[in-house]
Amino acid sequence: MVAGAAGFIGSHLCDRLLAEGRTVVGVDNLVTGRLANLAGALANPAFTFVQRDVALPLPALATAGDIAEIFHLASPASPADFATIPLEIMETGSNGTKHLLQLAERCGARLLLASTSEVYGDPEVHPQVETYCGNVDPIGPRSCYDEAKRFAEALTSAYRRHRGTDTVIIRIFNTYGPRMRPDDGRVLTNFIAQALRGEPITVFGDGTQTRSFCYVDDQVAGILAAMRGGTAGPVNIGNPDEVTILHLAHTVVRLTGSASAVAVVPLPGERAGDPARRKPDITRAGALGWAPTVALEDGLRAMIAATAAELGLPG
Ligand code: NAD
Ligand code: UDP
Repeated sequence: MVAGAAGFIGSHLCDRLLAEGRTVVGVDNLVTGRLANLAGALANPAFTFVQRDVALPLPALATAGDIAEIFHLASPASPADFATIPLEIMETGSNGTKHLLQLAERCGARLLLASTSEVYGDPEVHPQVETYCGNVDPIGPRSCYDEAKRFAEALTSAYRRHRGTDTVIIRIFNTYGPRMRPDDGRVLTNFIAQALRGEPITVFGDGTQTRSFCYVDDQVAGILAAMRGGTAGPVNIGNPDEVTILHLAHTVVRLTGSASAVAVVPLPGERAGDPARRKPDITRAGALGWAPTVALEDGLRAMIAATAAELGLPG
């Protein structure tokens, strides 16, 4: 079962599981996901789609032995969503996680929780190791997401310790690739759509903040390595190739051949608390036999081509 199946990462994961020959149930309420992401999966008889909000009880979804693996990726993930649907994000991280853990317990399934580098907040430890407990503002504009994921990690750990549920927590770092919504507000979707349209590239703040971008195929391989690796985690899954946002803007302009100007604009108010630096330590993931393989410029070329096709613009 993949919860969040119609989303960006979830839909790629469904495709990979189906390619392995698995039978897959995709669950999604389509709050930020799109059925179009599942076009290939929906054509496969081994795939079933269930439109359902996991924050509501999931009584009849499965019984003992029905499901071996539950991938819990359900959650809006763009900072733009933090400003518009914070209550839904917190319901999904709390009640949604509880319902999926109950389902895992009922079925005897192993549950993977897709947590996030956001649990480290604006980190004082760099690169971020899994033993670092984070620097999160519990009432800031990002707190609905950060604290929901931290609660989801705590709940998953409690189910594991007190009820013997088989679980693994992964912490996903910035991931990109085809099928992101061009208007989802995240940095690469913004930059690529702006470059393709010839609009100014909006670099927030001074552009010296850093992120480390993982291509979606690598992310899915990391998710599967963690699910199948027997570990409880948490395990960081991300690409440690760290770049400044200003460098990223110029790279997108170069790769698209765009005439767009790079415009450094003030950090929007709802982005307060924007982490200054982010880079995963992936020693633990390495011990599972996983390492990212896709270089940033190669992944960007694939995402640029997909975005151009979706927007009907020359890429
Ligand atoms: P996404 O928004 O494309 O996918 C999330 C999916 O979950 C969507 O299809 C959405 O409709 C669904 N969903 C949300 N709430 C739901 C609910 N209550 N019930 C059922 N479905 C629900 O985002 P994504 O980038 O694919 O992220 C997938 C997961 O990975 C999320 O849990 C996110 O927190 C985590 N993550 C992603 C990144 C990243 O860079 N993409 C980074 C860190 C963590
Ligand atoms: N960002 C930017 N311009 C944009 C969108 C984002 O400069 O149009 C910056 C944002 O301030 C942050 C980084 O890019 O420093 C990554 O933002 P994103 O929303 O992709 O995810 P985050 O890592 O903040 O969750």
